[in-house]
Amino acid sequence: MILQEAQHDFDVAILGNGLSGSLLATILGKQGVSTVLIDAEQHPRFAVGESTIPHTSLLISVLAEKYDLPELDDLVDANGLAKNVCTTCGIKRHFGYVFHRPGQTYDPKEGLQFGTSARDENHWFRQDIDAYLHNLAVHYGAVPRQKTKITGIEINESGVKLQTSQGEEIRARYVVDGTGYRSILADRFGLRENPTRLKHHSRTLFTHMVDVPPFDDAHNPLPISYHKGTLHHCFERGWFWVIPFNNNPLSTNPLISVGLTIDPRRYPKPEMAAEQEFNEFVQRYPSVAEQFKDGKAVRPWVSTGRLQYSSNKTTGYRYCLMSHASGFVDPLFSRGMFNTVEIIYALLDPLLEALKTDNFDEEPFRPVDAQQQLVLDYNDDLVNGSFISWNDFDLWNAWLRVFGLGTFLAEFHLMNGMSDYTRTGDPSYLKGPTKNPIFCDFEDPDYKAFFKASVETVEAVEAGGLEAKEGAKRIFDLADSYPFPVPIRKDSLVRARWMKEEDQLTERDLGFVRRGFRWALTTPLTRDVVSSSQTFFRWCAHRPDPHLMVPNGAEPEAKAPPQEASSIAH
Ligand SMILES: Cc1cc2nc3c(=O)[nH]c(=O)nc-3n(C[C@H](O)[C@H](O)[C@H](O)COP(=O)(O)OP(=O)(O)OC[C@H]3O[C@@H](n4cnc5c(N)ncnc54)[C@H](O)[C@@H]3O)c2cc1C
Repeated sequence: MILQEAQHDFDVAILGNGLSGSLLATILGKQGVSTVLIDAEQHPRFAVGESTIPHTSLLISVLAEKYDLPELDDLVDANGLAKNVCTTCGIKRHFGYVFHRPGQTYDPKEGLQFGTSARDENHWFRQDIDAYLHNLAVHYGAVPRQKTKITGIEINESGVKLQTSQGEEIRARYVVDGTGYRSILADRFGLRENPTRLKHHSRTLFTHMVDVPPFDDAHNPLPISYHKGTLHHCFERGWFWVIPFNNNPLSTNPLISVGLTIDPRRYPKPEMAAEQEFNEFVQRYPSVAEQFKDGKAVRPWVSTGRLQYSSNKTTGYRYCLMSHASGFVDPLFSRGMFNTVEIIYALLDPLLEALKTDNFDEEPFRPVDAQQQLVLDYNDDLVNGSFISWNDFDLWNAWLRVFGLGTFLAEFHLMNGMSDYTRTGDPSYLKGPTKNPIFCDFEDPDYKAFFKASVETVEAVEAGGLEAKEGAKRIFDLADSYPFPVPIRKDSLVRARWMKEEDQLTERDLGFVRRGFRWALTTPLTRDVVSSSQTFFRWCAHRPDPHLMVPNGAEPEAKAPPQEASSIAH
């Protein structure tokens, strides 16, 4: 289908055969595009970035349908994964956040759980997922070049010329860089911003461990074990991640991914081995130390410098950097792989068109660059605000709603677009309607104003111009007066496989669900924002989580539902 001139060996050369390179090569191969997939390493190999979110899975499912690749759908479903891909992945039923103060046992009232979806998300054991995708890409025609380094690269009017460490010269019409933070093209064309424009500062230490038990099942007042999701232990200017691969009955993998991410301005990197630093650091927080007391690393620790980087340009004449090659903020909120998939999604249309017409003008690719810059700045504000808020639980409780409102509403809008696309086959439904968004054109159209006001508030707290408690109240007030609808539809829940067609859900039920969701997302009185039927009933009655009852048995005062909520019900 694609023109291939005699002077080119391939239509597209992809550097890096990780998640982004292999996923893109699979789709291009299925479209009849000839690709070469080049990597310095060889599968299977370790990769970091393990926790998915519904946005990641929904977009992969869209790609599976649009490009007729049902094998991709197996990646997003825990059962499909275990049956058809590997038995080494865990499940993610929620984002669990536990708040810690130095020297103190944690207070169970300061734990929060935000649901991911009615269907479990996944803890991907990346070495198996990446190998599966690589093999799939080769199955669809990609030519693999593993253990191959790029020693030279030249881009001009006639195409792309690559020299490899194997002495090969490869000529292609377009090049995609999926080599991550050591991006070959960023280096070759001087694309990195130095210093980065990003505000956030963090460094990280991580490994895989055995013998890390579920976190405090005995005192957890929330309905789901923290072990069933991605656990975040949050504290002043830092957090630990705990990502179990052993929490799915279908898993044969005993490992737990463990990491510590901290602000180097507050916690400078010491002159000691990463393992020693981790073991000493953990002692500051008794409840975290308890969880890790028997933990043993099964692979070498990795300790990084500052994680943040950005590029002034991510697409150009005959080239594009994948998301992880373009920039990165912090693993908090698990947005990296979602950004990776959305950039692949955005790149495909202009790339296929350019290959067809043999016109590689930069203009049609500019929206891809604009999207990369947008999501990087959004992630930066989101994580920076979290690190600021970890000085005070109430502020954190408020800030988490800012994340939730952006993410959940965008996911519901995307699900609706998917369902309409599946029903009609019209691809225009796969483009969200929000003009001038802050991170994604499926976000609620009024989210940008709410987000900006919330960022100003949290930054005012950091600057010392506002008390943290006052900042928290201001954010909850902003959420209260933000007239967002909760766009949940039954047909969309069915399309996303969050429920079955035969399950009962009337329009009246949906009205309750929408109003309940709205309340749960905007009140400080619920820590359990996981959508079980039990919690829905409580939300609809505007009742706080039972464990938040004040000691004399009276409930904290619940606010009246906002005016707009009544207009949401059908
Ligand atoms: C500490 C950390 C934790 C993260 N956690 C999460 C998470 O929980 N959830 C999430 O969604 N995202 C997470 N991310 C982001 C996630 O890792 C990335 O979005 C994802 O891995 C990007 O995939 P990729 O294929 O583009 O890059 P990578 O996975 O980095 O793959 C790059 C590939 O390029 C190859 N390569 C590198 N240099 C060269 C070279 N010179 N020549 C040839 N090949 C080369 C490598 O061998 C590798 O195969 C995390 C990131 C970090 C840093």
